[in-house]
Amino acid sequence: MKNREIARLFHATADILEILDANRFRINAYRRAARVVEDLTVDIAELAASGELTELPGIGQGTADAIVDYLETGEMFGYESVRKEIPPKLAELLEIPGLGPKTVGMLWRELNVRTLRQLKRALRSRKILELPGMGPKKVLKIQGGVRAYESRSGRTLLGAALPVADRIIELLRGVKGVKDVSLAGSARRWRSTIGDLDILVTGSDPKAVIEAFVGMDGVVDVLASGTTKASVRMDDALQIDLRVIAAAEWGAALMYFTGSKEHNVRLRGIARKKGLKLSEYGLFSGDDRVAAKTEKAVYRKLGMPWIAPELREDRGEVEAALDRSLPTLVTSEDIRGDLHHHTSWSDGFASIEEVARAAKRRGYEYIIISDHSQSLSIANGLSEERLLEQGEEIDRINKKLRGFRILKGTEADIKSDGSVDYPDEILSGLDVVIASIHSGFEQSQEQITGRIISAMENPNVDIIGHPTGRLIERREPYAVDLDAVMRAAAETGTALEINCHDERVDLNDIHARRAVEMGVMISLGTDSHDPSQGWMMDIGVHTARRAWLAPQSILNTLDRRALLKHLSRSGPAR
Ligand SMILES: [Zn+2]
Ligand SMILES: [Zn+2]
Repeated sequence: MKNREIARLFHATADILEILDANRFRINAYRRAARVVEDLTVDIAELAASGELTELPGIGQGTADAIVDYLETGEMFGYESVRKEIPPKLAELLEIPGLGPKTVGMLWRELNVRTLRQLKRALRSRKILELPGMGPKKVLKIQGGVRAYESRSGRTLLGAALPVADRIIELLRGVKGVKDVSLAGSARRWRSTIGDLDILVTGSDPKAVIEAFVGMDGVVDVLASGTTKASVRMDDALQIDLRVIAAAEWGAALMYFTGSKEHNVRLRGIARKKGLKLSEYGLFSGDDRVAAKTEKAVYRKLGMPWIAPELREDRGEVEAALDRSLPTLVTSEDIRGDLHHHTSWSDGFASIEEVARAAKRRGYEYIIISDHSQSLSIANGLSEERLLEQGEEIDRINKKLRGFRILKGTEADIKSDGSVDYPDEILSGLDVVIASIHSGFEQSQEQITGRIISAMENPNVDIIGHPTGRLIERREPYAVDLDAVMRAAAETGTALEINCHDERVDLNDIHARRAVEMGVMISLGTDSHDPSQGWMMDIGVHTARRAWLAPQSILNTLDRRALLKHLSRSGPAR
């Protein structure tokens, strides 16, 4: 049957007409025809053969001719002709979640956006905000869609999955009889990318839980639906697996489905040595269940304290637990400020005051405004003059804020020769200087490493931003000898950043752990371009936990005075 193919061509024709800002009636005629053909239960070729096409509601003479045309020639004339009226790659942009034909058409006409590359550039420009209906929220949404589109074959970024998970957990908590709801799997361990989302529930009415789950907003496909488990696919392609667990087995199931596999294998080995058997249903001695209800109880019977999910990777946590030497991990409550934030002075969307007030609402004591420096003109980097002006503006706003302080900073470019993008007299007037690489990614390992090290040798540089430059699933790290960078960071007292932004997570958990072992302080910065991204601090905190970090290893746990004191004595030459 050609029904699906014909419906697809009608939809595609309508999309292109909408991009072209064509007559509403014409667009609607194609959309209606597409839906009618989609819903047909008989082969459309039969209707065409018997001349009954125009008897279908919603199929007029024009669309009937198009169907016949396609069945006879394998091409649809109407589609082929409108397709030539737009640039060849433009229609592909419609596959980006959150980007519709109207917007694609407007971006093409107003900003000459014809390709994905040009779209990404336009999304970073100021001009886009002047177009009707294009506020910061919309721009951020499309940027998120572009990211989802670019990594759609691979794993999902944690930052994209967590808001979905939160919404579902909230919904399930409201179902009658539900007692516990928890995320499991790699999302509960805060891995920076996930395959699918696992959610566990206990409740007295599993049927109601399953019904609420498969019926929730955003579900496009129910992959499985049984009495205690279900799987769905969401409109952003994310797969979510739900299991309803008996309350008596909650702890054992949570451990089993949280993983990692490697951690669970270790635990099962320890159980065996004690003559016990560990499964998703509990810890058993013969047929007797000795523990299952809580994770704590199961770990205790295995001879160890509860292990935080972030550590469950078989990277020494089992030994440390048996030894009673698990680290005291940093928590979100320990964090007193965000150490990397942009504003509308460079390529961010919000004013300094909006950023500061949002940070204060999060319970922070301070925030660092770190806009881009002059040579990053694509991001509207600040000239020396504008940086000084920004400082005056910060002074003005600080006078208005009680119990909160905006610190003056910059994210200065490390230029190709390793110099930092402002002269020392400017840098030394700031509270905090982040130095980052934003260009020359293709340089050799020797060059890149040398650049970062010479930036660290500048006593005004406090933090190296996103030290490897990777973009998860999209851009490999530049060639950098991290061990050499960490050694130099320890020697110069320069902190290395865990950039908390979900598409970076840079340093990653393994690198951050190694850096701290080498005596380096870690700085957590969200690299937010809008206050709505400030929650990504959670990603940074949990990445730090995955790196086994205690509060003392993290700059942001210092109060403002201690932070400034630390920074001013951290360089060798001060
Ligand atoms: Zn940066
Ligand atoms: Zn930044």
